[in-house]
Amino acid sequence: MLSRARTWESGMSDDERRRLWVQWHKARARWIRQCRENGAVPGPLPEMPPEIRGLRCGVTTKAGTPCRRRDLGAGGRCRLHGGRSTGPRSAEGRRRVTANLPKRAEVHQTP
Ligand SMILES: [Zn+2]
Repeated sequence: MLSRARTWESGMSDDERRRLWVQWHKARARWIRQCRENGAVPGPLPEMPPEIRGLRCGVTTKAGTPCRRRDLGAGGRCRLHGGRSTGPRSAEGRRRVTANLPKRAEVHQTP
């Protein structure tokens, strides 16, 4: 059986590695956003710390074994275990989302 406390060569625990992952994921998202806003590359893409390579989701499944998926999202968990987005929080974000909704007239329009 696979040991759950297994760590990478760095000796970091999975919790520490997940924290690194979340930090890196945020930095990368910020970089991408700046590219979009400025229309130019804001510098080198934040480098992925080698410690987070191969990080697995690790949530205890119904079967009692740790989840082995490696397609992690912003929270450092896989899409099955990360929970859903709670949506935009800032006033600006909420405004942006409503701006993207179809207008009422368009919804009922028949061509
Ligand atoms: Zn998972």
